[in-house]
Amino acid sequence: MANQLAVMVFRACATVLLALLIVSSLGALAADEKPPPPTCPVCSHVIAPADSVVVTDFRAPKDTTYCGLFCALKQMAEKYPASRAIAHSPISGNEVRIIRTGARWAIVPTTAVFLILDDPQLPPAQRWRVFDRQARYIQFLSLHRELLKYKPRPTRLPQVIRLLTPPKVGAHP
Ligand SMILES: [Zn+2]
Repeated sequence: MANQLAVMVFRACATVLLALLIVSSLGALAADEKPPPPTCPVCSHVIAPADSVVVTDFRAPKDTTYCGLFCALKQMAEKYPASRAIAHSPISGNEVRIIRTGARWAIVPTTAVFLILDDPQLPPAQRWRVFDRQARYIQFLSLHRELLKYKPRPTRLPQVIRLLTPPKVGAHP
């Protein structure tokens, strides 16, 4: 009888101890577990909020965030015939919208200018940027003179679209 009681007490103690252990380990997990920083679905780089570009696919409809314009516009050209990208101009923080409707592309504001740095060694987020107007583009380059070595030129949307959709060589002999 005393033996049985001892076994019951032991089991009860063991159960409580186990429960306590589980609860404390869960607590430790929750304390350590910060959500991982968001990464770009194209290049897997961590997305910096200032460079992030959100693309809305109007067919889904679905929003996807990319590390920057380079990855975002490439995805729009390849996958989303009815879509819109929202970027923010460095310096002013103003919104720039790029809209694709099939083969037609548009930009708002129409004064927007791209800075294209043609170097695959650069992180994608730094390769393409868009400014709401040319004055911001010039201001940005004067603050980042190290970029002048790429000999950048202010680039408008039609030229950027040509970079995204190069003519298919040899498709029609
Ligand atoms: Zn990316």
